[in-house]
Amino acid sequence: MKPLDIAKVYFEQAAHLMKYDLRTRTMLWTPAREIKVEITIETDAGEIGTYIGYRVQHDNARGPMKGGLRYHPTVDPDEVQSLATLMTWKTAVVNIPFGGGKGGVACDPDKLSQRELETITRKYVDGLHDVIGPYIDVLAPDVNTNAQVMAWIMDQYSKTRGFTPAVVTGKPVELHGSLGREAATGRGVVLAIKNLLGHLGRPMEGTRVAIQGFGNVGSYAALLAEQCGARVVGVSDQFGAVYNKDALDVKALIEHYASKKSVVGFCGGIALERESLLTMDCDVLIPSALSNAITADNMDDIRADVIIEAANSPISPEADKHLNDKGKIILPDIYANTGGVTVSYFEWAQNIQQMPWSEEQVNEGLKAKMSTAFADILTTREKLNTDFRLAAYALGMERVRSATMQRGVL
Ligand code: NAD
Repeated sequence: MKPLDIAKVYFEQAAHLMKYDLRTRTMLWTPAREIKVEITIETDAGEIGTYIGYRVQHDNARGPMKGGLRYHPTVDPDEVQSLATLMTWKTAVVNIPFGGGKGGVACDPDKLSQRELETITRKYVDGLHDVIGPYIDVLAPDVNTNAQVMAWIMDQYSKTRGFTPAVVTGKPVELHGSLGREAATGRGVVLAIKNLLGHLGRPMEGTRVAIQGFGNVGSYAALLAEQCGARVVGVSDQFGAVYNKDALDVKALIEHYASKKSVVGFCGGIALERESLLTMDCDVLIPSALSNAITADNMDDIRADVIIEAANSPISPEADKHLNDKGKIILPDIYANTGGVTVSYFEWAQNIQQMPWSEEQVNEGLKAKMSTAFADILTTREKLNTDFRLAAYALGMERVRSATMQRGVL
């Protein structure tokens, strides 16, 4: 199922629970603005290279639009729109003063030189500079874009607007980025687990965790879960998986991954097929790689009773229903992976204040935001008698609806 269809299914289910009429649904679902820009560059070979860039600005009722920029050959308007809608609900769920947006350029960064990537980035900003800005739409890293790309965005925007670090987050710390940003999404995932286990009256200590994906999110989630006393029993990446029924040594695994670019070959565990990670014996499963990781094909074999969606849309709606019917507890992406956007908000606030925060201040702020959002989801869940996903959607959507109506639609 395509990400936009998945996003629409959950949106409609929550809208039904909230008894929204068709006009309200149309208002909440329709993007405020969709932009497509042509990016033409001279390639290193001296030829003309043409790429298409997108930005979907979904909603700004609660504040400037906020969302990442993705460089990938499969980027298309549907994918960008689905991710933009998710950002609107995410920023509302954690109650930060932003709306939702997302961008992308259809290109293959593996086939581009640094100079070509820099030129594409700068031309993308030129195509958008009238409709982005600290109080309009704030960009951030996503798949295949990093702190360097964010620095180019800041520089290009600042050429016409004056020095404006708050137009983009995820910048290098030396260029007004925030301490704690790199670990933020993984940290948020672990805070989400702690909040849930606390609510269930279960200890973090000794909890067996399996993590699909060992990139930025998965590796920090593993490290911080271990620091909280959990046992990380399995980890996978695109090449394979490793398992240790007692616990993997996460620090050693991170060192191995850094040198080999894979968890495969790690001697502190047993090698397994990549896909078996999802169905291994564990208490908490954290998909933190791709969308559609758990579908009708493997939903019957999932053994964890708690699933934390660190990736965006890792569970298909069919599998989601099946797992809920079996009594599994799923913390949805629009809550579980909001650590990154929350610390992006802190970065934006530091830039606006021109006052850097300590790492401790950032981490404490994140902890407070994740705890309050969890409590708000619980309240909504009890009121609507539903699961965590639809409670989170309903909470976010109602905050956006209410802000829109209070501002007025004349
Ligand atoms: P990343 O590129 O750093 O890491 C991705 C990892 O997934 C890699 O280890 C890769 O080998 C692995 N992987 C790829 N295909 C796989 C497969 N079929 N099976 C198992 N592992 C596989 O990406 P990331 O930044 O860690 O993001 C991971 C997910 O979290 C993505 O869905 C992303 O959209 C989402 N997310 C990331 C952030 C963030 O701040 N980085 C924020 C919110 C959501």
